[in-house]
Amino acid sequence: MARKLFVAGNWKMNSSMAFATELASALNEKLGKVTEVDLAVCPPFVYLPAVCGALADSEIDVGAQNMYYESSGAYTGEISGEMLKDVGCRFVILGHSERRHVMGESDELINRKVLKALADGLDVILCVGELLEEREADQTMEVVARQVKVGLEGIGTECGDGSALADRLTLAYEPVWAIGTGKTASPAQAQQVHADIRQLLAGIYDQSVADAIRIQYGGSVKASNAAELLGQADVDGALVGGASLKADDFAGIVQAVIK
Ligand code: PEP
Repeated sequence: MARKLFVAGNWKMNSSMAFATELASALNEKLGKVTEVDLAVCPPFVYLPAVCGALADSEIDVGAQNMYYESSGAYTGEISGEMLKDVGCRFVILGHSERRHVMGESDELINRKVLKALADGLDVILCVGELLEEREADQTMEVVARQVKVGLEGIGTECGDGSALADRLTLAYEPVWAIGTGKTASPAQAQQVHADIRQLLAGIYDQSVADAIRIQYGGSVKASNAAELLGQADVDGALVGGASLKADDFAGIVQAVIK
């Protein structure tokens, strides 16, 4: 089953208005016409309108890094899926390890967000991944399986608007020990977990849905390791943090994986 590679950049809590517009313009210049690989960037909330504007005539989509599971109301400080759609987002990252481990988000909270994001018409990048101590205790798949199963609870193969879940959902396997540390999972380690996640998805849905859902790898991806990681059979793209903050570095990753 051929899945088109999907490389997304997570800017995390970095940027300024000048930086965001310059980076978006540089990405548009370097990658704006790329169609061999799907591309997205995920800036902080406040820069979304500017980045959506700068990339409006490009092939690069825009996503947010989080959202809340209610539409509107007394939820001070939160942002709804409808608001993200309103400013031009296609994607939302949910369950990033920093949301789980710094902000204390639970699998159940993340599941509510996934349900609402899909209902709001946003495509979801659902992040999962184990801590170093969990890998060392041989608990990687136990942790990842729980995050996938609970994260997708109540979510069927068709979304409310008739679209196929497989077209709307990307899973991102991001071992926490590899995020922002310069350490990457080896291609074999990544492939193993991705294959296990796909098998899990086949059990939750069926094999054809599992085969169609893209599973990105994230954790210190750069131009020098992207081709080998994304060349693995079950690795369908990358969620890139640090290296997405420089147009040359992000473009280098994309160029490295274009066949
Ligand atoms: C991330 O932010 O999801 C990430 C994988 O970061 P980095 O590429 O910097 O490890």
